[in-house]
Order: sequence, then C-alpha cells, then structure tokens
Amino acid sequence: MVLGGRWTDGGRSISTMSNSESRPPSVDTLARSLASSGLPHPLCVDIAREAIAAGDPASATIRAAHLARTLLMPVVNATGVLLHTNLGRAPVGAQQTARPINVEFDLATGERGSRQTAVGQLFARLCGGEAAMVVNNNAAAVMLVLAALAYDRGVAVSRGESVEIGGAFRVPDVMEQSGATLVDVGTTNRTRLSDYSKAIARQGADIALTMKVHPSNFRIDGFVEETTVAELATLSVPVVADIGSGLIDSNCPWLSGPPPAWLANEPAAKQSLEHGAALVTFSGDKLLGGPQAGIIVGRRDLVAACARHPLARALRPGGLVLSSLQATALAYLDKSAATTIPFWRMVAAPMQQLRDRATAICAATGVGSGEEMQALPGAGSAPGISMPSFGVVLAGDHLAALRGYSTPVIGRVRDGRTFIDLRSVDPEDDRIVIDALRTLS
Ligand SMILES: *Cc1c(COP(=O)(O)O)cnc(C)c1O
Repeated sequence: MVLGGRWTDGGRSISTMSNSESRPPSVDTLARSLASSGLPHPLCVDIAREAIAAGDPASATIRAAHLARTLLMPVVNATGVLLHTNLGRAPVGAQQTARPINVEFDLATGERGSRQTAVGQLFARLCGGEAAMVVNNNAAAVMLVLAALAYDRGVAVSRGESVEIGGAFRVPDVMEQSGATLVDVGTTNRTRLSDYSKAIARQGADIALTMKVHPSNFRIDGFVEETTVAELATLSVPVVADIGSGLIDSNCPWLSGPPPAWLANEPAAKQSLEHGAALVTFSGDKLLGGPQAGIIVGRRDLVAACARHPLARALRPGGLVLSSLQATALAYLDKSAATTIPFWRMVAAPMQQLRDRATAICAATGVGSGEEMQALPGAGSAPGISMPSFGVVLAGDHLAALRGYSTPVIGRVRDGRTFIDLRSVDPEDDRIVIDALRTLS
C-alpha cells in the first residue's frame, strides 16, 4: 500500500522516496492522464484523488471509464422490445436550435400566451376532442384530472381496474394523493353497469366521475365482464378513460395496411371519445411514439378546470418536450407517422427487409446467423402479444461485451444464446451493430 510516499511491511517502515518509480503520481498529473476519457477536468481530479487515496493510482483509468459509463448516451436497442422503459421508451429525434421558441407568447397579439395552445389544439384535432393539454407524464395527467375534478369526492372504479401499471403507478395510491376517494365497484373479474349506477345512487355517495383504467400490462381471461366506455357514458357523471398507451385511432390510418393484429385489445383515444368519454388520458412515449408526456383530451370545460388547478403549474412540460410532441402530432395529422415516427417505422418494417439486414450483418462480420424471432411492443402495452421479427443469433452470452462497445448495443440472452433483434434497431444503426459484433471475434 503506497500512501504519502511510505509503505509499511510487516511492521517495518520503508521509505520509498528514493525510488521515483514507486512514488505515487501527483493528483494533477494523474488527472491530466485521464483527459482521453472525455470527462471534464474537475471530475478527472476527483477520480485521481480517489484512486490515490485507495492506494491504487493505476485504477484511475478504469474508474474514469466506469464514471463515463454512468452518463446518459445513445444506445442501440437490439432487445426486440420496441418501447423499452429502461431505454427511455419511444425513441425520438430531437431537432433543436438554441433559439428561443414562442412557448408562452402569442405571435398574433404580441401578448403572453398559453404553453398549452399549440400542442393542445393539435391533439384535440387528432383525437376528435374539444380541447387538450399536456403534462409531464400520464401519471401526472391522471393525478391532475382527479385533483381538479374529484377532490374530496368519490370516483367509481371497477375492482378489476384498480391496477398497478409499474414504476409505482397504483390506482388507489394516485387516487389518495389527488384527494379523491376511490369507490370500488363490482368484482375483480366482473363489473356491470348496474354496479356503477348503484354506487352513484347510494345514499350519501358523492361520485364526481367514473374512471375506466386500461389494465395495460396484464390480462384476465375466462369468466370476465367489463363495462364499456359507451355504457358508462349513459350514467349521470363524466367518464374518464385512462387508456395508457396513447394509441390515437384504432384504425391506424397512418399505416398503409390494416391495423396490426396485436393492437386488437388496445383502447384508442379517438374511439374512447366517440364512445362518450368526457376525458381521455394517455402517455406520450408509449404507442404514440413521442417524448415522455401525459396528454389530457376531451371536454373543453373539464380540460380548462385541469389547466386552472394549481398542480398544473407543477406538472407542466418544458419547451423541449412541447416541440417534440408538436412534431409527433403533426406527423400523425399529415399521415406520415409510419415513416417519420421511429416507433411506427419499427412496427411497419417488413420481414423481408429485416431478413436482408440480418444477412448483410452476418456477411460483414462473419459471426452469428440470421433467425426468426419475436419482438414485443413493450411499455406494458398489449401484454402477452408479440410480433414476428428477424435478427442475428450468436452462440454464448455476449451481452456485456456488446454493452461495453463505444455505442452500447443492448441485446438479450435466451438459452445461452445472444439475440440481436433488428426490428427495434434503426437500419442506420446496423453499421454500429456490425462494428460491435466485430469486436467479439
Ligand atoms: C403507462 C400507464 C400509466 C402511467 O403512464 P406514465 O406516462 O408512465 O406516467 C398510467 N395508466 C395506464 C393505464 C398506463 O398504461
């Protein structure tokens, strides 16, 4: 152990000062030697100090590399999970200039405007609602709707829909935090319209809303019955539909063919409103394919009540998210979503194209073989459902090595083999996959 130029050995103290080779380097010299890590100098100084304090100056390089790998960076998602929550769900391209944008400025009047105007009108148009607004995520959207419309009042929810979505979004907990009271109706497997109407008619009950929550990430089969939005809309209180995934229209008019079969059980915003939902809430970064956001769309008076609530300020998104979401909405409106929104591009990629890419990658690297596999939509959408895909399979577990490549390639392992699923990889990134695979041999 080298510390302060001396090291102890069996009780004997030996001076190393005469031997320049075993003298620890200065913090500054060591920090400068870490410049190639790309880390700013003050962080290199911290690392150099730690390495010297640990008596292992030579570990500084690896410590710097470790720190650099904790930073956010682009990765290649070869997991076949198209919306991978750990990889930020929907991939979105950000085109930003450093110029200011008219986030809250009305260009017609020169007066202060609302940050909800631009994107709000586009989502209202897109979903067929009167108005819309945007918050930071769908959990925030549900929370705001409940706080603004049902504070100190009851919200009727089917016992089968009092669910946990993951990432600690649990309907009873969100309800409690919003100040609304959860009124359980029906049973886990069967809830009828009469269960809701009885709860509303019950003496002393003050039910502000009925809420329908899409149990996004699981399915109950067998002896089940649920009440539809259309049925709930016949009752005397507004229906809020938390559809979760952000599928805009179940007919997917932005795709050239019919809607993919795996979407069959996903509720859509447009149809939920058509069937009588007063408000619909959904995520921006699931099937919508945009940035992380939560969208509230529906009746003008109810959206306005949400926008007026003090929580709206705490939950509002910034200009970066709003511009990205605006680009997403415009892509749907001009029906270019299948080619311009990365998520829908992945969904629409024909099998033959994936096969050709796998063949080219195997030929270029001399490793692995092309194989059919199953990709998943991810983000808790369409549970139990997969879509055909194609990719490269290698014998053995190479996850760590691929993750260690300069642009990390994230694959998956099954039965001792490594799968590189090409449906979740942008074709432009095949180059990176090839370079990463070449480091394996
Ligand atoms: C995903 C999901 C949420 C949470 O949405 P976030 O955007 O992750 O906050 C809420 N409700 C449902 C039904 C969901 O599927």
